[in-house]
Amino acid sequence: EALPNGSPTSPTPSDEISPDYYRFDRFPEYQKLSQQLLQIEALGLGSPFFSVHERIANDTTTIDGRELINYSSYNYLGMCGDPAVSEATKAAIDRYGTSASASRVASGERVIHLELERELAEFIGVDDCIVYVGGHATNVTTIAHLFGEGDLIVHDALSHNSILQGCELSGARIIAFPHNDWQALDTLLQQRRHQFRRVLIAIEGVYSADGDIPNLPEFVAVKKRHKAFLMVDEAHSIGVLGTHGRGIGEYFGIDPQDVDLWMGTLSKSFASCGGYIAGCKAVVKYLKYTAPGFVYSVGMSPPNTAAALASIRVLREEPHRVGRLHDRATLFRKLARDRGLDTGTSENSSVVPIVVGNSLMSVKLSQVLFHRGINVGPMFYPAVPHNAARLRFFISCTHTEAQIRETVAIVAEELAKLKQETILPELNGH
Ligand code: PMP
Repeated sequence: EALPNGSPTSPTPSDEISPDYYRFDRFPEYQKLSQQLLQIEALGLGSPFFSVHERIANDTTTIDGRELINYSSYNYLGMCGDPAVSEATKAAIDRYGTSASASRVASGERVIHLELERELAEFIGVDDCIVYVGGHATNVTTIAHLFGEGDLIVHDALSHNSILQGCELSGARIIAFPHNDWQALDTLLQQRRHQFRRVLIAIEGVYSADGDIPNLPEFVAVKKRHKAFLMVDEAHSIGVLGTHGRGIGEYFGIDPQDVDLWMGTLSKSFASCGGYIAGCKAVVKYLKYTAPGFVYSVGMSPPNTAAALASIRVLREEPHRVGRLHDRATLFRKLARDRGLDTGTSENSSVVPIVVGNSLMSVKLSQVLFHRGINVGPMFYPAVPHNAARLRFFISCTHTEAQIRETVAIVAEELAKLKQETILPELNGH
C-alpha cells in the first residue's frame, strides 16, 4: 500500500500529538506529585524523603551531621553493622568479589547461595528454598509465574505492593478480602472455588503499616478446606515472631508444611538485600529452572549472600535478640497507649504506628521530632487510607529502654502541641 501523500503545509500526524504524550514533565501524574512536594516544602521544614544516613543505621544514626535516635530502619535484630556479619561479608568479598557476574543457572552459582538456601529452609522447617536478588522482585516473579489464566488469587486488602504487582502480572482473577478476615475469605471460597483451577491465598506475617498479625491457624484451615495454596509474606515477621525468630509459624506453633509458600525478605532482620521462597522441593526446583526473575537475573551478590547467611547463624546462636526486641516493642506500645497515643492495631510485632490522621500533620510531626533528636518517617495516603496518616516506628533490639522512654515522652508532648497550634489542610488530591 502506498504511503499517503502529504502536502508540505498539511499537518503531519505527529503535529497533532500533545506534548502530554511524549514529555515526562507534562504527565498529569508527575504534575500532581510536584504539587504535593511543593506543598510539603511550603511548610518550611524540609523534605521527609530520601534523608541521607551518614553511618550504620541501628538504634541511632547520623543525618545532616546530627546524632538521632533512629526508628526508620528495618534493622530489627541489629544484624546490619554487627561485627560478625560484617566480617563474614568482607571475607566473601575477598574470596568471590562483589558480583555473581551471571545468572545462577548459567554460571553465577556459588556455594554460599546453596548454604544460605539450605539454612533458611532448615530455619523455617521446610524442604527447600530459593533466594532472589530482591524482596519485591521475589513476590512479583513468583506469583506471576506460578499462577495465570483460569486461576484465582485472593489476597488481603492491605497487601504489599509487590504482592499486588505479582497478582496483576499473573493474568489470574484477583479478589481482595477484607483485612485479616478469614471468615470472609472462607465464604468467598465457598461460593467461588469451583469456578477456578488453582487458588492462591496471599497474606503477610506482620502487616507493615499497622504492625498487626493475621490468625494463621484459621487461614491454614480455610486453605485446607478449599484445596488452595497459602502464601505468607514474612518480610516483617521472620526474625521477629516466635521465640527463636522463626516467624509466624513458630509464633502460632503450626506445622511449617501447612504453608505452601513461605516468602520473606533478606533486607530486614537479615541485614542484606534479596528475598526467598521456602517450600516443598517441587516448587523450589520449578522456580529455579523457570521463574523469570531468577533465571533472567544475576545471582545474589556474594556480599549480600554472605551477610544474610551470617545473620541467620548469629540469630541461631543468639535467639535472645528476639526476646529483647519484643521487650522494647512492648514497652513502646505500653508507654504510648498510657499517654493516649493511637498505636492502632499493632500487637506483638516490631512495627508501631502512631496514627495522627492528617497527612501534613504526620510530615510536620516527623520534622519536629527530627529537631528534637528523633528520626522517624511519616506514612500517608496512598500508602495508608485517607485520614490515617501516621508516623511508623520500627523498633530494633538495639534500642535501649531509656531511648524508648525519652522518645514516647517527646512524641506525646510534640503531638499535643501541634494539635493545639496548627490546623493543617489535607495534601492536594487527598
Ligand atoms: N513484602 C513486604 C510485606 C514488604 O514490606 C516489603 C518491603 N518493605 C517487601 C515485600 C519487599 O522487600 P524488599 O524491600 O526487600 O525488596
